[in-house]
Order: sequence, then structure tokens, then C-alpha cells
Amino acid sequence: MEGVIKRYPVGDSEIEVLHGVSLRIEVGEFVAIIGPSGSGKTTLMNILGLMDSPTEGCFELNGRDVSRLKPDERAEARGRLFGFIFQRYNLLTTQTAVENVELPGSYIGMPAAKRRERALALLQEIGLGHRVENRPTQLSGGEQQRVAVSRALMNGGGIILADEPTGALDTVRGRELMARIHGLHRAGHTVILITHDPGIAAEAPRVIRIVDGKIISDETSVQDPAAPSSPEVEAGTPAPPVLLPAPEKRRRLILLADLMEALRMANHALRANLFRTFLTMLGVIIGVASVVTMLSIGEGSQQSMMRSMSRMGTNILRIEPGAKTSLSGGNLTLQDVAAISDLSHILHVVPRVWSTQMLRYRDKTYSCSVVAASPNYSEAENRLIVRGGFFTENDNARCASVVVLGMKACLELFGSGVDPVGKYILLNNAPFMVVGVVTVRGGSGDGRDREDDVAIIPLATGEARIFRSTKLSQIGVQVDEYKNVDLVQDEIRSRLNRLRQQEDFRIFNQAAMIEATKHAQDTFRFLLGAVASVSLVVGGIGVMNIMLVNVVERTREIGVRMACGARSRDIQFQFLAEAVLVCLLGGLLGVALGAILSCVIVVGDTKPVLTLGPILLSFTAAFITGVLFGFLPARKASRLDPVVALSSE
Ligand code: ADP
Ligand code: MG
Repeated sequence: MEGVIKRYPVGDSEIEVLHGVSLRIEVGEFVAIIGPSGSGKTTLMNILGLMDSPTEGCFELNGRDVSRLKPDERAEARGRLFGFIFQRYNLLTTQTAVENVELPGSYIGMPAAKRRERALALLQEIGLGHRVENRPTQLSGGEQQRVAVSRALMNGGGIILADEPTGALDTVRGRELMARIHGLHRAGHTVILITHDPGIAAEAPRVIRIVDGKIISDETSVQDPAAPSSPEVEAGTPAPPVLLPAPEKRRRLILLADLMEALRMANHALRANLFRTFLTMLGVIIGVASVVTMLSIGEGSQQSMMRSMSRMGTNILRIEPGAKTSLSGGNLTLQDVAAISDLSHILHVVPRVWSTQMLRYRDKTYSCSVVAASPNYSEAENRLIVRGGFFTENDNARCASVVVLGMKACLELFGSGVDPVGKYILLNNAPFMVVGVVTVRGGSGDGRDREDDVAIIPLATGEARIFRSTKLSQIGVQVDEYKNVDLVQDEIRSRLNRLRQQEDFRIFNQAAMIEATKHAQDTFRFLLGAVASVSLVVGGIGVMNIMLVNVVERTREIGVRMACGARSRDIQFQFLAEAVLVCLLGGLLGVALGAILSCVIVVGDTKPVLTLGPILLSFTAAFITGVLFGFLPARKASRLDPVVALSSE
């Protein structure tokens, strides 16, 4: 190190903490740096340990200039070459002893199994084999510092940087630690020990005194410094050579192992504060559950709408007289019916005539639509026979005076509780015998449906006795399947055109109307989903909020991780993983809650219908929420300066 100056910005000006420090430390040396508090020892150590870079001056490590390395290169070198031991141990409180020791290994890509094996061996070596699963709070200060020493050795720890390591220990534990450090020195590790205790400094073969950011003395003692060591605490592993990693050797951004590692750490961190994690998750749970439930309600409402539409006949075509432009002209007759009744895909062709007529039973009169139709009317129009039966082909052939009443007409004339079958009513002053009562299949059944407000008579009877004409009001065509409706419609049009030489009729297609309704329903569903998504966004903001708090609370942890070799992207990835994990778990619970709600809730007479779509959609949305709202906090964490992070409270 040559002429190293370190200045810190303070307000608008700067203060100079190191005023040109020059020193040279050889591999395998044991150097104590001593000086009063505030003299710049920690600042010097941070520069030596590549936690910080000098403002001015030159710093070479193993012949390579490292004063201007990029942050990630410094992190990599830190992880591989240095082992930090701090006065306040700086163990991660959410992790067990063995996990703390493993930490630096994860940042140089050591496989998990090897990491665990080495960490256990290191803890065994210093007599903590029985404490590996303890968390730092369950260990004494001396034990914590022993764990911290093991952590420093995890990646080899060729250069041990110890900043007042005995400062928080009692005399006995302090002596033990010093013995351990002497052992490491003898095993070949380079040791740089910072202290303000002259007694401790005197144990080192070389002592550098620093006052007010300047080296005032640098003495090497002649005598062998092995005095306070005890032979049983020799380091088992010889120090690795101090070599900077080649700069081109970069790890890829995300390996599966990295992903698993980040998730594992995230799981730890989240479990450390279960209640808070759950509250954070609650926002996502509610968001996802509402998306799932709302979309299920939308689906259910669409399905019930489609059911009632198809009850009205999705597969029915209606042909009526009159050209598109003018309603006048054009008659439909049984000739037209005959022309189309042999088409394929047709179930029923139902010619009919109607008009409003007066019905009378004893002293009661009621006027409603009287439909004269062929006997297959009841099947084609989906009528349910409540009493008696429907008139037959035979009735039609002999122009029988029989009538089938719709439920409403029946109730109006006869009231409830009277069986009208066999009774006579007057229709246009002619007596007709009631042979049956019908209602709409799938309708309310109490006479409130519009289709129930009719009286139906045979077509031939109607033509001969009521309407006195062969003009049809409408021909209904029931197609076998919904998908053939368009095809049949085209065929009917071409047949009738050929027969009539002109298009003086119109064909109404129920399917087209259903399409329109479906479209409106889709819009409705989209709106439901959009409203629900808002709550998911709110949940995401909650996640972001708590992650930002998390970053502030765990600043010191971030510093420790950086000292252990974490690059900024490792930190970013880890915090992102936490946010994503919260959102994914929340998504899972939300889907479960949404599924339960979908089974329980009934809106009017609509039951929600749960499909896979909304589940996948909302789960994906939860994942994206995690990534989006976790990004900012994660970036904030990753941009922290290692030194500042480490010295935060
Ligand atoms: P020591 O470890 O010897 O007690 P430090 O190296 O921690 O001393 O600090 C030396 C001086 O530098 C102190 O006066 C401290 O206030 C100042 N200092 C340390 N870090 C910063 C910083 N980030 N910003 C401003 N001043 C700092
Ligand atoms: Mg200090």
C-alpha cells in the first residue's frame, strides 16, 4: 500500500481519515495494528479487505493493482481471499451456527453438500460440534466468536482480518481466541489484527501504530512470538495460497443451484418473522382469492345465461314472410315447408299461424296469442306437458277442435286447482276441447313466463276455422346441432330462393343473438377480473412496503453477506426471491381460498363455476406481482455500500 488517502464526504465538504498510509505486509505475516479509537484502523482494514477503495494512492494485492476494482470483482476477491472477524461477531440471527459458517461458501459457488461437510468439520474442530443447529442467540459470546472464526475460514481465509476480535469477550475467552489466531498464523494464514489493547498487540511479531490516520511506528520484534499459544488449538487446514481470482472467471447470473439457494435463504428469512410474513401475504391472498372468485362468478353467470338462452333455442331458425327492406309482400305456405323439410341436419319443421284471440270459459274471458301449429310444436319449442297431452297428427288431419293451453292461459281461465282437461272453452265463439296444459321446459312453471301466455291448436284447424287462410306467420326450424345452424340457414335460403324466385322472406338466427350476449358477458367478466386485479395490485404494494422495511432492518445482514463475498446481484436476487416467495405462497393460499369461496357463494340463482383459467391466471399474476414489487426493494438492498451497511445499527 503506497500513499493511501481516504476521504469521506460529510455534508458539503469532506473529511480525510487516512492521510497517506504506506505499508507492506508479506504472505504469512502476523501484524497487529494498534491505535486509539477513531484513528482510522477500521477504515484501513476495510481498504485492506477490499470492502472499500482508497480515495487516492495505490494498493496492490499480490502484485495486482486492486485500488480500482469494480464492486463485483472486489466481492469475488473478498469471498475467496479474506476472512473477516468482527468485534461484535456479526452472525446472521435467523440462521443456525452451521448455516452461518456455510455462508461464504455459497457465494463462491461451492456445492451445498461440500459446504455443509466443511462447515461441520470447522465447527467440530473448535469444539462446537454439538451446537451446530443453535442460532446465535442460543450461543454464548465466546461460542459466537468461534463460529465467526469458522466462517472466516470457510473459503480458506488466506488473509484473516480481525477487527478488535477480543473486544467483546472476557479475559479467558479472549485468551482462547488469541490462541486460536496464533494457531492459524502458524498454519500459514496471514493475520492482520486490529486492537487498541497493547497487551494483545504485543503478542504479534509485528506491530503497526496508527494515530490520526498516520502510521507512526512499524516494529518487528526479534523474539519468536509463540508464547501464549496452546498446542491443542492448531488450525487443521493449512492456509491456501493468496491468489486473486482471474477476472474473466465469472459465474453465470442464475443457476438452478443459485435459485434453490436464494429460495432457501428467503424461506429462512420469512420464517424468522412468521406473523409479519403472513400479514404481508394476506394482501396477496385476498387479491388472488378475489380474482379467482370474481372470475368464477363471471363464468357461472355466463353459463347460466347460456343455459337460459339455449332453453329458448340456440338451434332454432325462424323464417318469416317479408323482404328485408319492406315487410309487405311474400307469403309463406305449406309448400315452402315441404320444400325444406327434407334437408339434412333438421329435426323439426314447425309451420305456424298466430293472432290474438278471445278465449272464454263460462263467464271468464281472457285474450292471448292463439297459435295454430303442427303437432311437433311441443318438442321443437321445448314445451313440458303438465296435464293431459298434446294434440296429434290425427287431430290435425281431421281438423279437430282441440286446444292445448299454456300455463298462464290455463290459470287465467280456470284458476289453480282445477283440471281443465276434457272441458270446453270457446275460441272465436267455436267450442274447443282442452286436451292438455303445457309450460316451458326449464322455466319457472308458475305461468309467469311469456311463452306460457298462449293457446295452441292444430294448424289445419286454425287455417280452416279461425284464420281462414293458408298464410303462415312463421316457420320454425329446429336444427340437430348448434354448429350446423349456419349451414342449414344457407341451404334454406337457397332452396326458398329457387322456389320463390325472390327473397321475400327473412331468416332469424338465434345463434347470432347468443353470440352477441356472450360478447356482453365477456365484457362483464373482464370488468369483474379487472376490479379484482386492483386488490392484487394493492397486495403487491403491501409486499413492496414490507420488503423496503426489511431492507432497512437487515442492512447489517446485507453488510455481513457482502463481507462474505456476496456480489450486489446475489443480494438483489435474494431479496427478489423473498418477495416472489411471499407472493407465490400467497397465491397458493389465495387460490385455495378462492376455490372454497367459489363453492360456497351463490349470487342470486347463479353459482360460480371454477375453471382452470382463472387459477393459472391469478397464480401467474401473483408471481409477476412479486417480481415487479420486489424489484425496487431488492435493488435498493443490492446498491448498499458494504462498509456503510456493515456499520449500520
Ligand atoms: P477506528 O476503527 O480506529 O476507531 P475508524 O476507522 O472507524 O476508526 O474511523 C476513523 C474516523 O473516520 C472517525 O473519526 C470516523 O468518525 C470517521 N469515519 C469513519 N467512517 C466514516 C464515514 N463513512 N463517513 C464519515 N466519517 C467516517
Ligand atoms: Mg474501529
